[in-house]
Amino acid sequence: MTYLDNAATTPPLKEALLSLQEALADYYANPSSLHQAGFRTAALREEARQRAADLLGVSPGEVIFNSGATEGNNTVLRGIGPLLKRGKKIALTAIGHASVENTARALEREGTPLVRLPLIKGGLIDTEHLEGLIDSSCALLSVTAVNNETGLIQPIQDLIRQARVLHPDILVHVDAVQSFWSPLWQEWPALDWDFLTLSAHKIHALKGTGLLLIRKGRHLHPLLTGGEQEHSFRPGTENMPGIIALGMVLRQLAKKRDSFLRKIRRLEESFISGIDSLDGYILNREKGLSYSPHILSLAHDFIPGSILQNALSEREICVSTGSACSDRDKKNHRVLVNSGYTGRQALNTIRVSLSPLNSEEDITSTLSALDEISKTIGPLYRKVQ
Ligand code: PMP
Repeated sequence: MTYLDNAATTPPLKEALLSLQEALADYYANPSSLHQAGFRTAALREEARQRAADLLGVSPGEVIFNSGATEGNNTVLRGIGPLLKRGKKIALTAIGHASVENTARALEREGTPLVRLPLIKGGLIDTEHLEGLIDSSCALLSVTAVNNETGLIQPIQDLIRQARVLHPDILVHVDAVQSFWSPLWQEWPALDWDFLTLSAHKIHALKGTGLLLIRKGRHLHPLLTGGEQEHSFRPGTENMPGIIALGMVLRQLAKKRDSFLRKIRRLEESFISGIDSLDGYILNREKGLSYSPHILSLAHDFIPGSILQNALSEREICVSTGSACSDRDKKNHRVLVNSGYTGRQALNTIRVSLSPLNSEEDITSTLSALDEISKTIGPLYRKVQ
């Protein structure tokens, strides 16, 4: 099996699996329990929190464990509720992840005005034209740092600077889920965001675990009421296996990120030069824009993405047509169309997403499968154009 759908989820590192087994067997105590077993479990949770805090340049008190980025994004958008009740707006793009987009639309139905930021071809936010859009009537600016369908990297530093010129008190939320392999990852400690959301299963830890960072002095209303876990901010007994595995993976990735990144870049290069030499395919990348090396979006001239995906799947090669969260809705090409691509190009797109666990062999076999599919199925679709 060739797995090239790492933007949807990544295989866990073996360290995550080993720590999962240990967590389930030995660290089953409730970390809120006031006895030795509980203290030991709580200590591991705090170790994981400290590691996340160190990596992201925040203090441990600013790190909240939750179930993933869908929860994190909902918490930020809904958690500023009192501001929204006063009629304040949310500024966002039309190409954010479904967990931002659909939450914003739900809030809009409840009366919150949305401000859509202008995009240039490729989906880059046009930071030169924010005047008249961002002002003191906006409570929150929410942005997906690296687009999960195209890999486009947004100019976060510039965006935050411009937004704060227009409205110094605007709250800034960054969905940083796909940012791990982009240069932004090392910039998070220095950038002036207020809320940042991350997901463990996108970085080789486990599903059902996420991080929500809330800068000191910022406040959000919790989605849930209950116990005092996570500073009462996120009640409920913690997902200790997920948290322990995340801590372990963060430790491994801190050591290995550079070499892993070099590997991903090499795979990206091989894929791009291979695609350039095949007939019928075009990369959905724009000159002058920056992309995370782990996401490659490409379109065939004639063959729909769903057909390409099936044909690859039959050859045991796993890719997607877009976001896994929207993949079942075949008509949904919101991100690509709003990024300036034609309906046909969006329809004919697949996403190949890499991890350091992939090999050159994965790339070679995928390229030759794409070539073969184009030559055998392409002519059929060419006729129906
Ligand atoms: N934001 C982005 C950019 C994503 O790619 C994803 C996962 N597809 C999410 C949010 C949601 O993350 P989770 O699966 O942890 O809910």
